[in-house]
Amino acid sequence: MNHRIMEQYKKLGISPEVYAVGEKTEEKLKERFAAIDETAEFNQLKVIAAMQKNRVSAECFNISSGYGYNDIGRDTLERVYADCFGGEDALVRPQITCGTHALALALMSNLRPGDELLSPVGKPYDTLEEVIGIRPSKGSLAEYGITYSQVDLLPDGSFDFEGIRSAINDRTRLVTIQRSRGYSSRPTLSVDQIGELVSFVKGIRQDIICMVDNCYGEFVEEKEPLDVGADMIVGSLIKNPGGGLAPVGGYIVGKKECVENAAYRLTSPGLGKEVGASLGITQSFYQGLFLAPTVVSAALKGAVFAANIFGELGFSVIPDGLQSRHDIIQEIEFHGPDAMLAFCEGIQAAAAVDSYVTPEPWAMPGYDSEVVMAAGAFVQGSSIELSADGPLKPPYAVFFQGGLTWYHAKLGILKSLQKLYERDLVNIGKLC
Ligand SMILES: *Cc1c(COP(=O)(O)O)cnc(C)c1O
Repeated sequence: MNHRIMEQYKKLGISPEVYAVGEKTEEKLKERFAAIDETAEFNQLKVIAAMQKNRVSAECFNISSGYGYNDIGRDTLERVYADCFGGEDALVRPQITCGTHALALALMSNLRPGDELLSPVGKPYDTLEEVIGIRPSKGSLAEYGITYSQVDLLPDGSFDFEGIRSAINDRTRLVTIQRSRGYSSRPTLSVDQIGELVSFVKGIRQDIICMVDNCYGEFVEEKEPLDVGADMIVGSLIKNPGGGLAPVGGYIVGKKECVENAAYRLTSPGLGKEVGASLGITQSFYQGLFLAPTVVSAALKGAVFAANIFGELGFSVIPDGLQSRHDIIQEIEFHGPDAMLAFCEGIQAAAAVDSYVTPEPWAMPGYDSEVVMAAGAFVQGSSIELSADGPLKPPYAVFFQGGLTWYHAKLGILKSLQKLYERDLVNIGKLC
């Protein structure tokens, strides 16, 4: 116990008992945190090596406007991404508006009418349902005559290899593999598991494109999906690789042909990567990538810390406090609205931005129950920043992620615990 630090926590409304729970838990997690730091160190060096190899210079931060021809900063950044993630080429653009857009772009540009898309890992992320046309939508892949098939994971979370073999047919052109569990209850895939799946698919037909939805997975491990044979990875810059600094954007990295197809679709056939003004945003992309390995390590420590505290207090935590991690998402089931709301209020109250507002459940379009969201972020909607959300229905699960620094993630979790403690929703006696 450090009294000066405890006094600082007190000023932020953390009582000595709750602080003590935090200290005890952190003490127990020393080895775990050291392993997370080691991954961050490895990935920090990987990022710096990619920047040095591509001779990143102050000139790369210049502003381009209009068509954006010969934007050295943009073009160099794309080579940095390609080297860092192990691809032949990359598209990293502010014109890609979010993760869903990046995924839609990768799919729509690499599939043609008559092709079939296969998800061998169950239902994809919610927003992709309209992209694919599982839920009908204007401009979906289905409207362009691209069919979809799906093989669910087996009940124990493993791949249904026989099911996948029989689902692959002459028209199967692209396989989409979601790395993170997102907001579903299936396990997150490790990069090695992804490698195993890619090898299996390639063993059936070498020319099937293996795409990985890499959202929330970047820099969690030392390897990335392209290192184990995937053809293309796709993600959002307001999650892990933007390091909290990128204010917008998405990326696609992989085989030259896959990236070129995406570039021709994003801008125009014939123009591709040659256009796209960066309007002065490029420096934040570089600096965000530079910080991303440590930002991801902070988020991971927060997730592990929360799993250990709330797991010990008797809540269901997925993954649990001991499991290995392959993304930054932590689920905590509160089994009732009061504790769930208290948790979210704590996360909000710990923010540097909008700390004084109280998150209220609301009927969000597309959901069948009310949803509560806590986020006080520098970049709106950024989920690499400390945030939590979940639908107000059993099992009253909160999905919690992010934290640009470990100390902020720690404060958020302690603040959440404080709210539950003050409302008599937990008994922390045995932990402090
Ligand atoms: C966040 C996310 C997406 C979509 O990203 P948005 O930026 O919210 O559109 C897709 N897949 C997974 C697994 C995600 O976590």
